Amino acid sequence: MGYDTIRFQGEVDEELICPICSGVLEEPLHAPQCEHAFCKNCINEWLTRQHSCPVDRQPITPSELKPAPRILRNLLSRLLIMCDNASFGCKLVVKLERLEVHREECEHNPKRPVPCEQGCGLVIPKDELKDHNCVREVRNMLQSHQHKITEMQCVVTEIRREISLLKAYVQDCIRTIRLSNPSVPVAVEPLDEQDETIRWANSLQRARVTRWGGMISTPDSVLQAMVRRALSESGCPPHVTAELMENAHERRWPPGLCTLETRQSNRRYYENYVCKRIPGKQAVVVMAFDNPHMNDDMVLEPGLVMIFAHGIE
Ligand SMILES: [Zn+2]
Ligand SMILES: [Zn+2]
Ligand SMILES: [Zn+2]
Ligand SMILES: [Zn+2]
Repeated sequence: MGYDTIRFQGEVDEELICPICSGVLEEPLHAPQCEHAFCKNCINEWLTRQHSCPVDRQPITPSELKPAPRILRNLLSRLLIMCDNASFGCKLVVKLERLEVHREECEHNPKRPVPCEQGCGLVIPKDELKDHNCVREVRNMLQSHQHKITEMQCVVTEIRREISLLKAYVQDCIRTIRLSNPSVPVAVEPLDEQDETIRWANSLQRARVTRWGGMISTPDSVLQAMVRRALSESGCPPHVTAELMENAHERRWPPGLCTLETRQSNRRYYENYVCKRIPGKQAVVVMAFDNPHMNDDMVLEPGLVMIFAHGIE
């Protein structure tokens, strides 16, 4: 679409007018046979409908179009044109060749990016400044960040799941190697230990906590000793029992559980825990490998113990 002729100072030569839009040629192209010139956009759009010159009907195809001759482009570039933002108060008249540069820096451009001076410091188009509300903008920004954080958490969960699968796969491979060739020494004791822990944890019943409010976050030593014994009797490997019992008190719990405040704010996530019943006790283990879907600040390696006053099924 060409430039409106009323924006130009003085008469504009007929040669510089696009026959399609009647404006002054913008990015002119010409037909090689008849040499008629048109704005690039105008002629391209025209040729989607018919392959002929709009002036004399000579056949043309889009690929035959050529940039207009230099002399025509020079004439165009010297025309004097009013700024696009004349209606917003810009009085400047520039050579057409300078128009684009001026447009970028024109003070009167309603879309010119300006910093908000009411506090948020965001850079926004000038014409949006009057409807701008710092609090709303910052809230929107926070929401979009929150959204990104949630997405990243999903990725982390996915990665954890893949790591567990990979571990299981490696263990399978090692088992296969051992079965097929017992003489090959494979130093994988840690995996074996892990195997043992997983086997033990999988032997426990899945627990349902009906009263999260009954959680005893600071169990005394008597209570801890009872739970420790129950863990050992259930077949939990001794060093795992020791580690889990270390994690039976809020002072060792992860950030999301270690104070009353964080527990209250995370309470809505409790239902997502995979808990296993410590046999015969009002207590559960929350093993890290069972809970890769939970937030990092809600789980501990290898797991944590929660003791309750009541409410375990
Ligand atoms: Zn045109
Ligand atoms: Zn023509
Ligand atoms: Zn201007
Ligand atoms: Zn602001």
